[in-house]
Amino acid sequence: MIFSKAALAAAAMMASSTVFARRCGTPGMTPDQVTSFNTLATKAMTKLTAVKANFQKAELQDVEEKVIKVYVHVLANGTKVEDGYLDESQIHEQISVLNADFSSAKLSFNLQNISYTIDKAWADGLEEYAFKSQLRRGDYSDLNLYFPLTLPDSLLGYSHFPVSLTQDRQDATSPKDIFLLDGVVIRSDTLPFGSYAPYNLGRTATHETGHWFGLDHTFGAGGCEGKGDMIADTPMEASPAYGCPVGRDSCPDQEGLDPIHNFMDYSDDGCMEEFTPLQKAYMHSAFETYRQNVAGP
Ligand SMILES: [Zn+2]
Repeated sequence: MIFSKAALAAAAMMASSTVFARRCGTPGMTPDQVTSFNTLATKAMTKLTAVKANFQKAELQDVEEKVIKVYVHVLANGTKVEDGYLDESQIHEQISVLNADFSSAKLSFNLQNISYTIDKAWADGLEEYAFKSQLRRGDYSDLNLYFPLTLPDSLLGYSHFPVSLTQDRQDATSPKDIFLLDGVVIRSDTLPFGSYAPYNLGRTATHETGHWFGLDHTFGAGGCEGKGDMIADTPMEASPAYGCPVGRDSCPDQEGLDPIHNFMDYSDDGCMEEFTPLQKAYMHSAFETYRQNVAGP
């Protein structure tokens, strides 16, 4: 069979977009989590100076800055840079990116410790329960960042939403396991100065930490008529945005252009630059509800 040049070029583009498109493995919300999210999102509006038509002008009110303790765990294949053995300066740079991206949300990050583990399976992002139960540090209010060399299924990262550790649970997961699995896992080549362009400015950590604070993807579920991200000041978006498609309007019958610059979309790192006011308020509400002063089981 002979392929035309155009067909080969198209196939090559598809292959590269399969490899290089942002993919996040954070699991979708359960029906219980959706209900809790909506209740909290309504409550979070009281933390804003303006709502509804004036969302864009809204600022956080009566919200004190929260300083999050961070424990970093490097999961490498060996002691060379190409094995995923990150230089400490790169980790400090990643923390700086987090601090810059969350500063207008009055959230900041304070690095407590860096651990290095050399393990082939863990460096491949396998055995999540094993590496987390061995390495996790701190309380439910502390952020554990795991940096394996790579991840299965072309994922850039994944996180777990905050949940109540004390409430009776419908599912079978024990509070202890939820606590152990809590945290953010990110390919180490997505850190600033990493090799995974266009996702190497540290925004995967920002995006996954947004999930850790409880935020969903801006494109939500169910397209233009679905529940979206349940955040009232992010325009509806039918599907993830890739690259930096300025002016994209995937839900033309609804208000606003797609939120392609939002940290919770799938755009390139260089395209992501903001959380909306209600996203910021929501992160504080969710942290206060689920994480603040919660030691863990
Ligand atoms: Zn995500």
